Amino acid sequence: MSSYKALLNGTCPICGKGQIFETKGSLLHLKAPKMHERCSECNYKFDKEPGYFFGAMYISYGMAIAELIAVFLVINWFIPLGWLFGIMFTILVLTMFFNYRVSRILWVHIFHE
Ligand SMILES: [Zn+2]
Repeated sequence: MSSYKALLNGTCPICGKGQIFETKGSLLHLKAPKMHERCSECNYKFDKEPGYFFGAMYISYGMAIAELIAVFLVINWFIPLGWLFGIMFTILVLTMFFNYRVSRILWVHIFHE
């Protein structure tokens, strides 16, 4: 496992400098995130093979479920049940790219070398 700093910054697990995703800064971008193929600093290949990120989908699903449960536990007390579906859906859409980025960054950091 590489450094937590590189993980939190979404940077390369090898050198900790090159960004994994093209969009910098906040993880809460609402634009579809695009990955760099290789690290700009050390040329490490992030996407090792076709299907390499398949497992990252499971992390992403797990995150989505955890987020939905967390939100449900909080808003359950304040809103009528009929609104729940719409609010849950909105949460799913809003966190989709966030989960996508985080799961792939995690994946790259867990499974490098
Ligand atoms: Zn690198």
